[in-house]
Parts: sequence; structure tokens; C-alpha cells
Amino acid sequence: MAKSADHFKDVISHAKEYGFVVPSSEIYDGLSAVYDYGQNGAELKNNIRWYWWKAMVQLNENIVGIDAAILMHPTTWKASGHVDAFNDPLIDNKDSKKRYRADVLIEDHVAKIEAKIEKEVQKAQKRFGEAFDKEQFITTNPRVVEYREKAEAAIKRMARSLENEDLEDVKKLIEELEIACPISGSRNWTDVKQFNLMFGTKLGASAESATDLFLRPETAQGIFVNFLNVQKSGRLKIPFGIAQVGKAFRNEIVARQFIFRMREFEQMEMQFFIRPGSQKEWYEYWKEKRMQWHLSLGLGEENYRFHDHEKLAHYADAASDIEFKFPFGFKELEGIHSRTDFDLGSHEKFSGKKLQYFDPELNESYVPYVVETSIGLDRMFLAVFSNALQEEELENGSKRTVLKVPAFLAPVKAAILPLVKKDGLPEIGHTLVDELKCHFNVHYDEKDAVGRRYRRQDAIGTPFCVTVDHQTLDDQTVTIRERDSMEQSRVAISEVADILKKDVDMAGWLAHL
Ligand code: ATP
Repeated sequence: MAKSADHFKDVISHAKEYGFVVPSSEIYDGLSAVYDYGQNGAELKNNIRWYWWKAMVQLNENIVGIDAAILMHPTTWKASGHVDAFNDPLIDNKDSKKRYRADVLIEDHVAKIEAKIEKEVQKAQKRFGEAFDKEQFITTNPRVVEYREKAEAAIKRMARSLENEDLEDVKKLIEELEIACPISGSRNWTDVKQFNLMFGTKLGASAESATDLFLRPETAQGIFVNFLNVQKSGRLKIPFGIAQVGKAFRNEIVARQFIFRMREFEQMEMQFFIRPGSQKEWYEYWKEKRMQWHLSLGLGEENYRFHDHEKLAHYADAASDIEFKFPFGFKELEGIHSRTDFDLGSHEKFSGKKLQYFDPELNESYVPYVVETSIGLDRMFLAVFSNALQEEELENGSKRTVLKVPAFLAPVKAAILPLVKKDGLPEIGHTLVDELKCHFNVHYDEKDAVGRRYRRQDAIGTPFCVTVDHQTLDDQTVTIRERDSMEQSRVAISEVADILKKDVDMAGWLAHL
């Protein structure tokens, strides 16, 4: 099971070649950091979306889902703090004229130090064999200790300076760490400036009367402004949650790394409303719950880690990221934030409307506290897709490219392949397609040799290929070939639907959560 050195390039080209993801408006050379999902990508994305939605809304009696508009009253964004504080610190290199996020430059520098620590650990592990104690090594080895101190000091100082809006010190830190531009190699930097990430647009027919609006930079605010509507109409009792999936827009300074950082993307967010004072407990609960959801997909426990925040957003009293090992290293996939009563409290102030909950057990009203889970659907897609794409060397020395996505997420669940285009085999194939297509997505394919058809299905992640051959005419059996093991078994055609459903139905996966 090999992943080539240039795995990320393979991921991008495979996504395009097999109808998963392409640059938006590509015939006009594309639009930077905006992407379209093709026929297979849309299916995979829908399946991930539903797995999240069902895990949140269907499995939890006290969580409901809504679908709020992208355009919102402009005061929303003053209340949420986005007009004043939704900024990224940017810095330009004067020689390459390239623009960077100052915090990302520092974080990338720290990631390099962490990679050095990892190398030292691996070397020592080899040297000491079974007797190796990692914890002891990283706390006592002088070189590793020095690396760790450097990394921690850089992150702490960056967090402090950004919190104090001390952009001069952020620049100083970049200079002191001797960070060079990856393009020009020079350390000739401009000052650090703040840049607001919201996209503006206008509402109204004439230029004079038009109102300035923003495309929402997060879906969360659509939940907060609907808090009372949902609570009252659903007669919901605290603790309860409101979930939503939808588009969000950010004018990212540095949009790169394919669908990892996009200007138009989708978020899957859930705001959990709780009693003030219980936020620590719920924050820990949701950290755990969300990690469990990720691990249920079987992408490998070693590919996830928590990263607790040093620098907290203006609304948070605790925050942690679930990071995933993307082809370019560990990066944020999901955020879990303890948002206090910041959002509801602020909307109360700006709207003049009470956004409180009467707690019958305490016999008092209060502004609820909130714990949020927020994940990018596109980033989740990239996690699943990049992890699944593999090149395998087969016993006969040939190679195959296979997309080992969890069976229930696959765009196509089964391909029906008549061995030849005659002798009544296509008719049997079509009848089987008609039976299966009400349950899940199936493909019918009768072109080319069957081996080539298998390869085409492997490349889009189809978990099962069902082949109809001449024996089918005699005994109504077909062969089922399983994608990962490539093993084939002969079964009665009447049993195919039930056999496949065991693996491809989402219900079975949800039951294990
Ligand atoms: P980052 O630090 O990577 O910019 P963030 O901390 O600003 O992300 P949040 O505001 O917490 O992100 O958004 C929640 C989730 O939305 C992120 O964990 C990520 O999965 C997703 N997300 C945020 N920005 C983007 C983007 N530009 N493109 C794709 N997904 C995004």
C-alpha cells in the first residue's frame, strides 16, 4: 500500500480526472481558491454531509437542524465582532511581492522545529529499541528540550502579540526567527497589517439606495439569531443544540492547498446551548464526541490530534482544534469552541430583543452559554479523499490506483458488469440495476474487458463490482468482487441487495457511534 512522494499532486490530478473536484470556471483559467465538485465529488460530499447531519440531528434527541440564509442583516456582523475583528495579519515580502499570513509563517516555522524533534525521536527509537521511553527522551534530551522551548516561546509570544494587537512585535518575531520568504529566500518584509476577510455585496436596485451587506463568513450567526425561534417552536429545554450545514465565504489572503483553504466553502456547525457554568464539562464532552465521529471512519487514529489554543478568539474561553494529517502535514480540520454568552449577549445588545431562556428547574432566566463544533465540509472531503487514494502493487507486478473510501461514503456503491454484451447478460444486468437503484447509487458498465472496468471502479472507490456471466444463465448466481481485498465470491442474484446493504448502508455505521 504505497503513497507516492508527491501524494498531494496525485490527489489533485486524480480529483480532476475522475470527476471529483475541478477549478471553478476552468475554461476561463479558473478563479483562485474556488472549486466545483463533479459527478463523483458531489456524491461523496453529500454522503459526508449526511453522515455528519445524521450523527448530530438524527442520533441526538436534543439537537435539531436548520437552514438559514447566506445574506443576513448587516448589524449581525457588528454584533458578532466580524466587522471589527475578523482580520488576518498579513505581511508582504518586498522581493517576491508575495503576501503571507504572518501567523501562518510563524506556525510553519514552528512546524519545522517540530519535525526536527520528531526526527530526533525516531533516531533515538531506532538506537534504543524496545527500551525507548519517548516521554523521558523528549523531556531530558538537551537538543530536544531546546527545540521544544524555542517552539513554545515562539507560539506564546505570537499569541500574546496578536491578542494585544501588537503587530510591530509580530514582525519583530518573524525577523528574530529569521523566517525567509519561501519564494525569494529573502527576509525583506513589509510591516504587518490587518486585513478583513469578509466579502461585501449590495442589496437594492440603485446605487444610492443600496445597502451594504456581507456574504456570511460563518454559518454560526444564522443559528444565534434564530435561537429563540427554534427554542420556542420546538419547545426545547436546555441543554439543546442547533445544527446547520451551509456555504460560508472568506476572502482568504493566502488561498492555497487545493480545497483546504477556499474562498467559498461549506461549514457544518452545531451550537450547543447550556447553563452558564457548565461550559467546561460540555466542552470536554463535545471534544470527545467529535473525535469519536472522526475515528469511526477508520482513517487511522494516528492521523488525528488535538491542538488546544493559546490564542483565543474574542468570543471564546476555551478552544481546541481537531487536526488531521493532510498530505502537507497536520492541520486544523475542526474547531471546538466554548463561546460563552458572547454571541447571544451581543445580539441582545445590538437588537434590543431579549435572547434569554427561562430555566424551569432553576426558576430563573439567563442568556445561555454555548459550546460550538465547527467543521469544514470541504476539508473533511479532502481528509477522506487524500487518505483513501492509494497506489497498490499487485502480485503480478502490475499497479492499481484505488480509492479506499469507507463503503458507505463511496459515490457509487456497486457496479454491475455483464461479462459480454450479448447472450442475454446485459438484460440480467439491467434488471439487477433496477432492483438496486432504489436503495443506493449503482453504475452499469459493459464497455471494455472486465479487468479494465474493475480498475475504473477502483479509481472512484466503488466498494463492490457484481459480474454477470454465462453461469448466471444456468444457476442465477453472480460474482461479487470486493474493492480492497479484490476477492470474489459467488452468490445468488436474489441475495445481492442484502449482502451489499450490510456494508454500504449508513445505518450500520451510525449504530457504532
Ligand atoms: P484557519 O485557522 O485554517 O483559517 P479558522 O480557525 O479560521 O481556520 P474556523 O473559523 O474555526 O476556522 O472555521 C471552522 C472550520 O471551517 C475550520 O475548522 C475549517 O474546517 C473550515 N474552514 C475555515 N476556513 C476555511 C476555508 N477558507 N476553506 C475551507 N474550509 C475552511
